[in-house]
Amino acid sequence: MNKCSFCGKTNKETSLLIEGETGFICKTCTELAYAMVEQENKKMPKFDPGPITRFKPAEIKKFLDQYVIGQEDAKKYISVAVYNHYKRLNQVSFVEDVEIEKSNIILVGETGTGKTLLARTIARMLNVPFTIVDATILTEAGYVGEDIESLLTRLLQVADYNVDAAEKGIVFIDEIDKIARKSDNPSLTRDVSGEGVQQGLLKLLEGAIVNVPPQGGRKHPDQPTIPINTKDILFICGGAFDGIEKKIASRLNTRVVGYYASREKEKIDKDNLLQYIAPQDLKAFGLIPEIIGRLPILTYLNPLDRPTLRRILTEPKNSIVKQYQKLFQMDNIKLAIDKDVYEYIVDKAIEFKLGARGLRSICETIMIDDMFDLPGKNISELNISLDYAKRKIEKTNIVLLKAS
Ligand code: ADP
Repeated sequence: MNKCSFCGKTNKETSLLIEGETGFICKTCTELAYAMVEQENKKMPKFDPGPITRFKPAEIKKFLDQYVIGQEDAKKYISVAVYNHYKRLNQVSFVEDVEIEKSNIILVGETGTGKTLLARTIARMLNVPFTIVDATILTEAGYVGEDIESLLTRLLQVADYNVDAAEKGIVFIDEIDKIARKSDNPSLTRDVSGEGVQQGLLKLLEGAIVNVPPQGGRKHPDQPTIPINTKDILFICGGAFDGIEKKIASRLNTRVVGYYASREKEKIDKDNLLQYIAPQDLKAFGLIPEIIGRLPILTYLNPLDRPTLRRILTEPKNSIVKQYQKLFQMDNIKLAIDKDVYEYIVDKAIEFKLGARGLRSICETIMIDDMFDLPGKNISELNISLDYAKRKIEKTNIVLLKAS
């Protein structure tokens, strides 16, 4: 006869006996276990954002400066937005009549210019749960793809299921431009991965209680969900918005008429139109006005020029070069790289149009043989000269480099 492996009740003594791989559990023991889990959940430490507000905007920016090169405007906007966001968390809303609204952020800039890096660095500084999700995998509920709630599942997972911590976390939604409305006529066909997702995101961005499936995946009637309030979650969205410059240019041209026309036109820097980005350009690109309204902090990232790429190679606190030095150092090898090698790496990154991500693949190509051969060889120094770097790059298949 089957009986509960915990209390010994037989199937005659209980109305429900659940069978597992190697035993059984009765209804009473299940209820008891559930109560214990509940108890345990309540013991989860309260997440205290107190120390977060300790940092003033200038200090936040200073921290970002250690990791992100250039992008002065974006860093300033983010520092203020984050400062205000956490100030908002500390407000006692029922006492004060002015309620501070959420300062979700939208970053517009070419791929590889540091959008994710900025969001990641902010989360690192604040020590709050942080997750990156790609907007392209999201679809409106009921269609193939992931439900919008799933982006909170990941946040919950990185917060070790501490709901309180997750509710004060940061979510970076990448490729937000890919969910732009596909056509100007919204009623043509149902746009399940574009406008449908934008509609779904609205409530999340603003603040709502969302039932999140803890294991992710599609919501299933039998799967328990965890309610998460998104009102204090900071959303940072990023996108390249390819071609948005045209919309900016046409707006600037139509605006610049009349008395100030000639003066304003003079000032416009045509090579970097992104710096003039305004909410109406996002609308022209296909974001719905409600979404734009919920992402009030709009800022841009500059394309990376030569001097910036050169700085990225060595200056950040965990720059690529410092990382390689550390890797070799762990094998007791001192890595020395000649100055002109840096210039060469930057040249190649520009030549192959690889951007900042390419700096790493070029370094990897130069050093891969040494990283393979040297460990265990009793060598204490590796010097990379320009000739050596050139030889390594020239013998590799450039096409491969371009693809990485
Ligand atoms: P994006 O999100 O804009 O596509 P990322 O932030 O992922 O780009 O940048 C890719 C990589 O390039 C980063 O991990 C970082 O190593 C480097 N990088 C890009 N921009 C910068 C920058 N401004 N300062 C320092 N490193 C950068």
